[in-house]
Amino acid sequence: MSEQTYFDILVVGGGMVGSALALGLSRQGWSVGLVEASDCNALLQAPGKASGVEDFDPRVSAISAASQRLLDQLGVWADITAGRHCPYQTMTVWDGDGTGRIQFEAAELRAPALGTIIENRRIVRALFSALSDSDVGLIDGVKVTGWWQQQNKRGIHLEDGRTLSAQLVVAADGAHSRLRQWVGLPTREWDYDQQAIVCTVRTTQSHRFTAWQRFSPTGPLAFLPLSTETGDEHFCSIVWSQDTEEARRLMALDDGAFRTELENAIERELGAVEVVSRRHAFPLRQRHAKDYIASGFALVGDAAHTIHPLAGQGANLGYGDVRALLGELLRARQAGINPDNDRVLARYQRRRKGENLAMMAAMEGFKQLFGRDELTVRWLRNTGMRWLNQLGPIKNRIAAEAMGLD
Ligand SMILES: Cc1cc2nc3c(=O)[nH]c(=O)nc-3n(C[C@H](O)[C@H](O)[C@H](O)COP(=O)(O)OP(=O)(O)OC[C@H]3O[C@@H](n4cnc5c(N)ncnc54)[C@H](O)[C@@H]3O)c2cc1C
Repeated sequence: MSEQTYFDILVVGGGMVGSALALGLSRQGWSVGLVEASDCNALLQAPGKASGVEDFDPRVSAISAASQRLLDQLGVWADITAGRHCPYQTMTVWDGDGTGRIQFEAAELRAPALGTIIENRRIVRALFSALSDSDVGLIDGVKVTGWWQQQNKRGIHLEDGRTLSAQLVVAADGAHSRLRQWVGLPTREWDYDQQAIVCTVRTTQSHRFTAWQRFSPTGPLAFLPLSTETGDEHFCSIVWSQDTEEARRLMALDDGAFRTELENAIERELGAVEVVSRRHAFPLRQRHAKDYIASGFALVGDAAHTIHPLAGQGANLGYGDVRALLGELLRARQAGINPDNDRVLARYQRRRKGENLAMMAAMEGFKQLFGRDELTVRWLRNTGMRWLNQLGPIKNRIAAEAMGLD
């Protein structure tokens, strides 16, 4: 654990977003401290060997090409993909209440894959492994319990009684960011009144390197393909977002009954669902900070915005924040400007707010569109999906946007 108490930049929260930011900032030459509540040694433990559904991290992310590029520039992509990961070439989206279906193909975009499904802990582990070889002052296994600011000085209090200070403090402490609250940055938020049920399954048919997503009026169900060390193509991570009451009913079912419901909900596209892991339920809430910055302070990742998982974009938006903040702070460093400079931070906010809001609005639109079951709306969306599926250029533009391709 680092004994240093003063840094150019302090990052609070070593999740997928904060740990990437800390690594990138240190590569730029800033003195960086990273505070993470969890124990770093536990994070560094290698993922299991994948002999069964329980070996997989229930939390996985569909990492876009743009996020892949960032992780590659940080020098961790090779480590992340040295073990199990699953690039997918096709994404099939359909309306469970009609005949509309859209298929996105990597080949149509001349890309090797539409994205890569990776267990979250594998990403965090690779980032922490790189951090332990970097100059970042890692302060782990201890929680931040407060924020202080006096004129141009600012910093944080730790639960072990220590006080740290920095020119710039960046909160990457997740959706329930305490720092965001202490600094007093309000959010706009609303409850979807849905929960996402997450678990790993094994199916009788191969996932065919396809991300499957079926919409129903009570919420979307995604089957995201996973690969084992030996290349077994029968594991998927599911994210089943359902209205809260329905989610509670599904969570209460025994494994056999849950499997049957899953098979029916995915219309047996992958044959029978053989096994399911333990299920986890996450309440879904949309949140967006009205401002991402304050004097000597910035928000990144889920601390700034949380979004419905239906398009798998939360971490990708967080990595967009990291790219933008790294870009602005590099320019500042090259010009000899302090990291807490108001204009530097304002430029970061301008670059990110619009893009994040646009993605959140698009997700909300999708959710509303598929949440309606009036006959006319159903007809329109099914006709629209079939029509869109025929329109190569427009369909490919949508896919390229989601992948973060330029
Ligand atoms: C069901 C589901 C499926 C998803 N699927 C996808 C997907 O396919 N693709 C995608 O891009 N995104 C997806 N997401 C979103 C993605 O998981 C999040 O956007 C991402 O994990 C946010 O990362 P983060 O680092 O900002 O926050 P977090 O992962 O929440 O990390 C915050 C860190 O801060 C630490 N911390 C918190 N408080 C303190 C404190 N007081 N002191 C010290 N440390 C602290 C925590 O220990 C934690 O390590 C999904 C989300 C859900 C719920």
